Amino acid sequence: MRILCDTHTHTIFSRHAYSTIEECVQAAVDAGLELYAATDHYSAMLFPDRPGGPDLRDYQFFLNLHDWPRTWHGVEVLRGCEADIVDLEGHLFGHDVTVDRGIAGDLRSNPTTLLADVLKECDYVVASVHGQDFLRGASSAQVTEMYLRVLDDPKVLTLGHVDRTEYEFDVDTVVSAVRDRNRLIEINEASLARTEPARRLRHVVERCRNLECPVVVNSDTHIAYKIGRFDKAIALLDELDFPEELVANRTAASFHEALAAAGLDI
Ligand SMILES: [Zn+2]
Ligand SMILES: [Zn+2]
Repeated sequence: MRILCDTHTHTIFSRHAYSTIEECVQAAVDAGLELYAATDHYSAMLFPDRPGGPDLRDYQFFLNLHDWPRTWHGVEVLRGCEADIVDLEGHLFGHDVTVDRGIAGDLRSNPTTLLADVLKECDYVVASVHGQDFLRGASSAQVTEMYLRVLDDPKVLTLGHVDRTEYEFDVDTVVSAVRDRNRLIEINEASLARTEPARRLRHVVERCRNLECPVVVNSDTHIAYKIGRFDKAIALLDELDFPEELVANRTAASFHEALAAAGLDI
């Protein structure tokens, strides 16, 4: 199986990643990809403990994504973010942060939320759990419900690395909802290097296969040279006889079909 799009990657704007956007695009060219997307962290972990709470100026990287060419060095470039799921209601980071000033400090006539500002220029969102404290003590039903509610945000295309969530949820219910709502479950190459996530991911992939839920294979790399490298994920898909037509990002055309099905075509 060949996979020609990498749709969850990080640049230096994620702070614990190491490559510039242009280095990443060039790496996508070198890897023979048709389509590349940067999805930097949109998360409290970037600038924790700011007095007064999260500040739009810390996230201004997301406000100017229109400057990126849609085709760069011959590769199609998409603009996204990996947004943190922050509570059991399935809210994304910044949903409750009012923004009443622009990045230059001027008062706005129409206040928005940090989440709305950041998502405005994003083509789509990968929604993931990182900090897991809010899940402590949650029942399987509650974690399941959290993932279902995440899908209510129309910009969410992908549930990122559900295998790294250390709390039980009903995989079949989440996978079926993702399928029915035309979204994607992620098969994350980086998860497959970790014992427990790899074990959980294997089960998720089996259920996606049996329930015919589309998936997206992503590197989730934090450095350019790993862009487009999906060796472990492809080996797993082959081993499990995973139907190729359910892999949304095998070509740029198939990824655009998935975006269109989710109502996110560009
Ligand atoms: Zn990261
Ligand atoms: Zn992540």
